[in-house]
Amino acid sequence: MNTFYLPQLLYSDGTFTSNRGLLVNGDGKVVELAAQADSPLDKVIELPGKALMPGFVNTHSHSFQRLVRGKSESRIVSGKDFWSWRGTMYHAAAQLNPQEIYDVARMAFLEMVLAGTTTVGEFHYLHTSPDGRPYEDRNLLSQQVIAAAQSVGLRIVLLRTAYLRSGYELPRDPGQTRFFESTRDFLLNMDALVEGFPANSAEVRFGVAPHSIRAVPLNDLEEIAAWSRARKLPLHMHVAEQIAENSACIREYGYTPIELLSRNHILSPDFTAVHSIHINPSEIEMLSQAEATICSCPTTERNLGDGVIAADLVMRAGIRVALGSDSQAQIDPLEDARELDYHLRLRDLERASLDQIEGEALASRLYACATVNGARALSVPTGEFIPDSFADCFTVDLDDLSIAGHSADDLLPITVFSLSRSAIRDVIVNGRFIVHDQRHPLQNEIVARYKEIHGKVWQNNTIESAHR
Ligand SMILES: [Zn+2]
Repeated sequence: MNTFYLPQLLYSDGTFTSNRGLLVNGDGKVVELAAQADSPLDKVIELPGKALMPGFVNTHSHSFQRLVRGKSESRIVSGKDFWSWRGTMYHAAAQLNPQEIYDVARMAFLEMVLAGTTTVGEFHYLHTSPDGRPYEDRNLLSQQVIAAAQSVGLRIVLLRTAYLRSGYELPRDPGQTRFFESTRDFLLNMDALVEGFPANSAEVRFGVAPHSIRAVPLNDLEEIAAWSRARKLPLHMHVAEQIAENSACIREYGYTPIELLSRNHILSPDFTAVHSIHINPSEIEMLSQAEATICSCPTTERNLGDGVIAADLVMRAGIRVALGSDSQAQIDPLEDARELDYHLRLRDLERASLDQIEGEALASRLYACATVNGARALSVPTGEFIPDSFADCFTVDLDDLSIAGHSADDLLPITVFSLSRSAIRDVIVNGRFIVHDQRHPLQNEIVARYKEIHGKVWQNNTIESAHR
């Protein structure tokens, strides 16, 4: 049976229209945008006072890092930069048993869906027990994270991560014990994991994620990339987040990370370079020529002091930019989107730098970063309402305080620059409601479990809410 969603306004192709709805088939896929239901048998869901918009794609997430939120905002605890911040993050990573990894992931994913996210790319690098011994099922922790997404109802692309060493000429960092595998084990484990799920599943898909040039030497990277290419999987990698990472790559190979990836034919339309902050115009050209995607994570990058991506140069070069919540310092897809432009405003003392690139309006460009660009990076048909894409969407309360008082032509800029989470009312993944009127059915249980784990990891007493 088809379902016909009829909102007050429907977003598609950069504009809102009235008197149009979304027809979805029984497999949860978009049939068409139409003025009315197809047949009297169709179920009609009217959404008066609401806009219906394509759900967000969070292209780069480390769910367990939700635990670090608020714990690293002191130099006494976490030092002054990214490298020392990792110590706090490693502390959290070392504490969690498989059940807790599941519960923390559920918390991060719950927050994502309540913020309108319908697909997550989970860059997952916790593989072994805290002392480095593999679990009997070597993919146990990947399975836990997948199960967490399924429990919440969020589509997941598990980007299983290869982490082979601490860095060029560096001894093994004990904080990374749970991350390490050999290349051979990584590929065997990937094989076993992928085989356990149907191909092109609507709920669970896979990608390959060599962590970084720092953590994966070139020879191994080539082997992993060839494995990934043979299976037509997305290939994601942290690139040029930190200047020290670029310098180490130049010392080891004589090239920057992007140059090295380009010379060795790793860059491709399936490749996503996460961060890409410290890159020059010739490296931008290499990414553009290869039709690679950049995944930017501005809320995390500003939290960690990583730097500002040259989104203007990148977009003018025609590179697609996707977005990720990365460290979960904030989970707010539109905040990531608007910061792409806001950070340039602070850098250049000018406004709206990303407007009218190739004639495209700023707000629709940023909305595409949060949706369809991520969908392409993860190779999932979602992020826009076109036939055969997954019906992934959320409703927006048009009278919410953050956006009330708009006209059809400024609703998108108001949404992108000012919408609060309170405006996001219902979330639909694959044609199924997972959030109804801002409530997820498992919310109380997920939050309660998370608070217990938070208390255990940080050895404190969680303050009980006075209003339950
Ligand atoms: Zn990351």
